[in-house]
Amino acid sequence: MTVRIGVIGAAGRMGRTLIEAVSQSDGALILAGATERPGSSLIGADAGELAGLGKLGVSIADDVTKIVGDIDVLVDFSSPSATIEHIKACAANNTAIVIGTTGFTAEQDEIITKSSAQIPVCKASNFSTGVNLCFKLLDIAARVLGDDVDIEVLEAHHRHKVDAPSGTALSMGGVVANALGRDLAEVAVYGREGQTGARDRDTIGFATVRAGDIVGDHTVMFAADGERVEITHKASSRMSFARGALRAARWVTEKPAGMYDMQDVLNLK
Ligand code: NAD
Repeated sequence: MTVRIGVIGAAGRMGRTLIEAVSQSDGALILAGATERPGSSLIGADAGELAGLGKLGVSIADDVTKIVGDIDVLVDFSSPSATIEHIKACAANNTAIVIGTTGFTAEQDEIITKSSAQIPVCKASNFSTGVNLCFKLLDIAARVLGDDVDIEVLEAHHRHKVDAPSGTALSMGGVVANALGRDLAEVAVYGREGQTGARDRDTIGFATVRAGDIVGDHTVMFAADGERVEITHKASSRMSFARGALRAARWVTEKPAGMYDMQDVLNLK
C-alpha cells in the first residue's frame, strides 16, 4: 500500500531532503501535501521544483488544515511552536505524525504526549539509524563503566542551528543518566567558564560547537584514570535523517494511538 506523506516546512533543509527521499521510495511513498510558513513567498510553488526534482504537481500550502485530510502521515521538521499547532490538527483529523523538530519546552512536550492518546506519534531527536544504534551502545557502555568514569557529551552542528545543546546530545545524556540511575536535569552541566572548581564525578557535561556546514557530530566520552572510551557518530548528509523519518512514517501508520520513538521503529528496545 502506498503511504501518503505530508511534509511540513517544504522549503527547509530537512523539508527539501524529505521530498527528495519520498521521490526515491520506488512508489512505497507518495508526496500528497506540503506546507510552508504562512506569508512565505513560496506558497503555491510546486514542492518538487523547490526540491530540484521537477514538477510533482503538489503545490505548497500555507496551512496544515489544507492538507491533513489528504495524507496518511504528517512529517514535521519545523519549529516547536509550529509543530504544536500541527499535532493539534493531526489529532482532530485522526492522522499520524512523525516529529523531527527539536527544542520543545516541557509544556510543549506535555501537549505532544496528550495528543498521543488520540493518534500515533513517532518523535525522535535524531532519526538516523546510526545514532539510534549509538543510543543502544551508550546504554551498554554506561552500565559497564558505571560510576568509575567522567562522562562528557560533545556536539558540533552548522552555524544555522538555533537550539543548543542539540536534541540528540540531550537524548544521549538522557540514555546515560537513565542507565546510571541519575536525573539528567540535576546532573547536567551546560558549558564551563571561569573558576569552576574540580569536576564532580556525578555530573554529565555538555559542550557545543556551532560552525560552518557541519551536519551533525556527536561524541560521548567515558573517561577514567588511564583509559577512555569514546562513542562517536558523524552525519555527513541529511538524507540519513530523512530516510529514517520516512521509515518511521511507514511504521507508525500501522500502529495504534501512542507515543513511539526511533528505538521502537528499529526494534531496539
Ligand atoms: P530549517 O529552518 O531549514 O527548516 C524549517 C522550515 O520550517 C523552514 O522552511 C520554515 O519556514 C518552516 N516552517 C516554520 N514554521 C512553519 C509553519 N508554521 N508551517 C510550515 N512550515 C513552517 O530547519 P532544518 O535544519 O530543516 O531543521 C528543522 C527542525 O528539525 C529543527 O528543529 C532541527 O533541530 C530538527 N532536525 C531534527 C533532525 C532529527 O533527526 N530529528 C534532523 C535534522 C534537523
